Amino acid sequence: MKFLQSTTFYLLLIFLYSCKSTSQWEGQGPIQIIPTESKEINLQERRTFDLENGLYFSNQFEGARLNDAIRINDTLVSITILPENEPINPSPWYAFKIWTESPQDFWIKFTYSDKGFHRYYPKISKDGNSYSNVDSTDFVLPVVGEERPKEAFLKVQSSQDTTWIAAQDLVGTQHVADWKESLMGFDFVEKIKIGESNQGRPLEILKIGNADDQHMLMVISMQHPPELTGYLAMKAFVEEIVGDTPAAKKFRANYNLYLMPQINPDGVGNGHWRHNSGGIDLNRDWVNFNQPETKALSEFMEKKVEESGGKFVFAADFHSTWEDIFYINNQELKGNFPGLIPKVIKRSSKRIPDYIPNIRPNEGVQRSVTSNSYFYFVHKAESMTFEVGDNTERDVIKMKGKYLAEELMKILNKKN
Ligand SMILES: [Zn+2]
Repeated sequence: MKFLQSTTFYLLLIFLYSCKSTSQWEGQGPIQIIPTESKEINLQERRTFDLENGLYFSNQFEGARLNDAIRINDTLVSITILPENEPINPSPWYAFKIWTESPQDFWIKFTYSDKGFHRYYPKISKDGNSYSNVDSTDFVLPVVGEERPKEAFLKVQSSQDTTWIAAQDLVGTQHVADWKESLMGFDFVEKIKIGESNQGRPLEILKIGNADDQHMLMVISMQHPPELTGYLAMKAFVEEIVGDTPAAKKFRANYNLYLMPQINPDGVGNGHWRHNSGGIDLNRDWVNFNQPETKALSEFMEKKVEESGGKFVFAADFHSTWEDIFYINNQELKGNFPGLIPKVIKRSSKRIPDYIPNIRPNEGVQRSVTSNSYFYFVHKAESMTFEVGDNTERDVIKMKGKYLAEELMKILNKKN
């Protein structure tokens, strides 16, 4: 039975208010609900565009978008990148491959049909796996006043060998599945299927640790499909947790970390800018649980607590945005380990030269519709959303993920 939807719950709520109990609900106003019932989405057609003169563009692979490609003249091709539906937070996620019958130099004009603005600096790859930033002399971003650029231009030298151009390194569902498989090589890692997406992709969690579930942690990433840098920070964080260090071994003996590295596999597979295949921003569905992804994870966590009698002490949700930001709960709110999150952020940040973390505590003390809020208000887990900058250097991302895990384990190991 869904706890939040039951009549018993509301009666209980009235009872708690009237008792002036010290429950987590005291003093809170009503939860602001955002509709999250499924909406229609536009899937992109996977195809190869024959642009004459022996030039081809293709989106026939998983992830990201290329909705249209038109030749304007001998040296200019215009492409269109469209969202899955609207309204949407504009983060156009593009990727395509190009080849020509004979070597050609030409320009690509990126357009978003007024549905967004250019966000991601283009990456280039010759094998579809390893990407680097395009040369800055080949990329033009016309900036008009204060407005974000609505179009962008990229110069390409194409040949018979395929060139991939992408908003971020392409990390599709297969990449994540392969990484999970590699973690399964450890005897303290177990895979748990908790459900299926609308399009039938498995929703999977990894349990990391040998502990008895009295103290648990939850880590998720990729609620928003293009947010690769958050995924990379999460990966570095987890790779420290599964490490061979004495701290990691002690940690795993006392704590189980539950990991859902890709909570929106349909969004990733279809190349969505932000939503799942129900056309919904999953990070607005942590009260309603109308979507299979949020529903499956919340039910898993609630069942885990019920069965084990244990509790979640820490939760983290990794995202990406323009710069590195830690969103944390209002520090008046005391969860299962008060002060844990600011301590971990500050200690790990100190180890990075000249870095002052951007920590933004929530001003309110009310429950909201995000994962971060769910983790705190339902589980009392100390929780944070780590937004990693789109352009943060990859080695810095790794350092941040690794140090966060090390400092977290240090503090938690002292408790047990
Ligand atoms: Zn996000």
